[in-house]
Amino acid sequence: MLIGQEITVLGAGIGGLAVATALAQRGAQVRVLEQADAIREVGAGLQVSPNGAVVMKALGLGKALAAAAPRARAVVLRDFRRGDPVFRLDLDRDDRPYHLTHRADLIEILRQAATEAGVTVELGRKVEAVTTDDSATTLRFAGGSEESLPLVIGADGLQSQARAALNPATRPFFTGQVAWRCTIPLDAADTAPEATVHMGPGRHIVTYPLRGGELMNVVAVEERDGWAAEGWNHKDRPEILRAAFADFAPEIRDLLFRADQVYLWGLFRHPVAKTWGQGRLALLGDAAHPTLPFLAQGANMALEDAWVLADALDQEDHIATAFTRYQALRKTRCARIVDAASRNAENYHLRPGPYRAAAHLALKLGARLAPNLAANRFDWLYGHDVTARR
Ligand SMILES: Cc1cc2nc3c(=O)[nH]c(=O)nc-3n(C[C@H](O)[C@H](O)[C@H](O)COP(=O)(O)OP(=O)(O)OC[C@H]3O[C@@H](n4cnc5c(N)ncnc54)[C@H](O)[C@@H]3O)c2cc1C
Repeated sequence: MLIGQEITVLGAGIGGLAVATALAQRGAQVRVLEQADAIREVGAGLQVSPNGAVVMKALGLGKALAAAAPRARAVVLRDFRRGDPVFRLDLDRDDRPYHLTHRADLIEILRQAATEAGVTVELGRKVEAVTTDDSATTLRFAGGSEESLPLVIGADGLQSQARAALNPATRPFFTGQVAWRCTIPLDAADTAPEATVHMGPGRHIVTYPLRGGELMNVVAVEERDGWAAEGWNHKDRPEILRAAFADFAPEIRDLLFRADQVYLWGLFRHPVAKTWGQGRLALLGDAAHPTLPFLAQGANMALEDAWVLADALDQEDHIATAFTRYQALRKTRCARIVDAASRNAENYHLRPGPYRAAAHLALKLGARLAPNLAANRFDWLYGHDVTARR
């Protein structure tokens, strides 16, 4: 039972705002503490796949999501040089919607929903240390003040303080890949709502339109020996991105020619947290299971976590049993998704040669001869509905 229960959420990102809304809608008194002095999002796209969209719908936000973000028609894998399609995952035939959103739009939908549900958001509240025991979780803030709270949810992302309180320090390792991101204004509002992956040796580039074709979202990945910093906001020179993809199809070269502000970051692998809840503290989203972006599932997993954790706290009489149920329902699935995302880069980056030719032929034939079978390969991922487990 959550009615009147005081719950504090650390972090006003996608997972934090979603869990705050889900808890407040069930009657909890929820406060969100955010380090930034405003809720703003980086200018980038985000794919909300059907498994995340069902959570938005269950929160009462299905229509708002559909209004802000068109449904994607397909995900298409293409050869890097000629741009020929190698595999097409048709999303139109599916009654489960797959959306291409702007991150800022998704955050704004969630922020409004949280406010309407009675959640208060406190900005400029950077937490520097977290400890927990069976009676309370204590947060220490920048400046030295402390608060002891009955229940805290750590949705504080990649560099989570909450994760550190429950799990021994682990060191992420550099995957040998860096990624650029940028958005590029489009002239043509009639761009097909499709996510496209051009796959080249040691490199791939993902593009999809946002806001009805106003912008093209670009994420480009290159294998590198050198190390680059983790974190999303390191600027890079557009010429370096253009040079890395100079042998790609003309449509990619033309697009990148118009990029004027690009960001670069190093891709690191982190282990999935061993402990997701203990004492009076639970983790969700990137705080529990940071993932590489190659399956577009980080935010979708955060939405799923938010629903399952709110539901477990509502259904169970004791916090400890709610945490056990939450971890049991989530950890294996998230570990599988994180692994699948890591393997995707290898599949995209095959070098020219017989193995690449055979792999691409198998994908092409599979999609042509048995399109349903090809689409069904993703059922475990997109067909998972955490809101049906009530
Ligand atoms: C290029 C790229 C593309 C991606 N594309 C997709 C996609 O298409 N689909 C998808 O599902 N996922 C995608 N992801 C992953 C997704 O963005 C993340 O997994 C998701 O944002 C995680 O949500 P979160 O709420 O756990 O953390 P975050 O969104 O990172 O939010 C954490 C919040 O906590 C706050 N915070 C952190 N530390 C503190 C502190 N000490 N005190 C107070 N506040 C704090 C932060 O300021 C932030 O607001 C992508 C990621 C990248 C890098």
